[in-house]
Amino acid sequence: MTEKCDVLILGAGAAGMMCAIRAGQRGRSVIILDHARAPGEKIRISGGGRCNFTNIHAGPKNYLSANPHFAKSALARYTPRDFIALVEKHRIAWHEKTLGQLFCDDSAKDIIRMLLGEMQAVNAKLRLETAVSTVAHDGGRFRVTTSGGVIEAQSLVVATGGKSIPKMGATGFAYQIAEQFGLKLIETRPGLVPLTLDPAALERLSPLAGVAVPAEISHGKTAFNEALLFTHRGLSGPSILQISSYWREGDVIRLKLEPGRDIVALLKEAKQKNGRQSAQTALAEILPKRLAQHVVEQSGLTGNLADMSDKALAKLAGEVQDWQIKPAGSEGYRTAEVTLGGVDTTGLDSRNMAAKSVAGLYFIGECVDVTGWLGGYNFQWAWASGQAAGEFA
Ligand code: FAD
Repeated sequence: MTEKCDVLILGAGAAGMMCAIRAGQRGRSVIILDHARAPGEKIRISGGGRCNFTNIHAGPKNYLSANPHFAKSALARYTPRDFIALVEKHRIAWHEKTLGQLFCDDSAKDIIRMLLGEMQAVNAKLRLETAVSTVAHDGGRFRVTTSGGVIEAQSLVVATGGKSIPKMGATGFAYQIAEQFGLKLIETRPGLVPLTLDPAALERLSPLAGVAVPAEISHGKTAFNEALLFTHRGLSGPSILQISSYWREGDVIRLKLEPGRDIVALLKEAKQKNGRQSAQTALAEILPKRLAQHVVEQSGLTGNLADMSDKALAKLAGEVQDWQIKPAGSEGYRTAEVTLGGVDTTGLDSRNMAAKSVAGLYFIGECVDVTGWLGGYNFQWAWASGQAAGEFA
């Protein structure tokens, strides 16, 4: 038996569910399917279980894409305020954690329940544990063969996400469909991902595993000022995840630890107050103990502050605030929060995410070559692009 609907959405993640709601509100009959057992699995695990569902500062500058202008239209037409209004309509309590990042007070599951409730209200049909085997386009309609039968639709919206976290069912399926219909792809790579170090650097930094410190991490002209975490594999923490989306193999990144502090001035002050203390003791007042020890060992300046010249103090400060590291690689899709690259935006209409060359075909969310920074920006793109397609599909 062939089932018919106006809009068939592949992928019941953030973008797909948002699209289903908007299309349903317009009176379109909607089927949304997913091969997973539950919808919105990435929403469920996001933000440490509390879902960083948007960022109040979200704007085009917070996204990476071969065409930085592409995201403007959708982001302007569905803003963080719009999503907050939806969250408040469902009486979900939220708070700003830092840097404009909004989280649920209780659980990310509240967001999933909210989206499912809105889908139900417009009678969008959700099919779970449903795999797609073929997609055909014939006589202006799409015929999708699934494990649950054939579905025929006027519009087909591809919302199957990127390649990150394959353990959770990420497939890269959207890229396959894009290629089938002749759309170009921008090479994909893991983004928002911890960086790894070569064995020599790892050995040198291994005593620091577990140490977290405020840092400014830069790559060329791009810099992020957030926490840095030393790990057993290399470097992580928000600042590293952010810069990982800009970093390429062979590139050097610069680390300025405790960027908000004038280390030379603090060391001079400590020398004046108590010159008999060691540099390590003085630095341990400013930095985590293990980091202070590492900095002193690297500098070779192990004496008392009283015996150190201004030049020596400047050298110590440099060991804190002027690191250059060439990461060996990244942890890859296994731990990456997002996938950079994807469906090339030159083939899509920025107003509604429609494929320019195939009437009725849409790509939304993470599978498109639009990738946000860490901090709620990726969900905002999922909501905005889902809404944009739902408005037209
Ligand atoms: P997804 O949410 O990945 O949804 C795609 C759906 O398609 C999935 O349900 C999947 O099962 C389904 N699917 C895939 N292939 C097929 C197939 N072949 N057939 C049928 N169904 C298929 N972003 C933020 O903004 N804030 C955060 O707090 C945040 N935290 C994150 C934490 C983690 C650990 C991870 C991995 C990501 C996080 N992100 C966060 C990023 C965010 O989750 C994604 O950008 C967002 O989920 C993308 O939405 P999407 O709908 O495009 O794709």
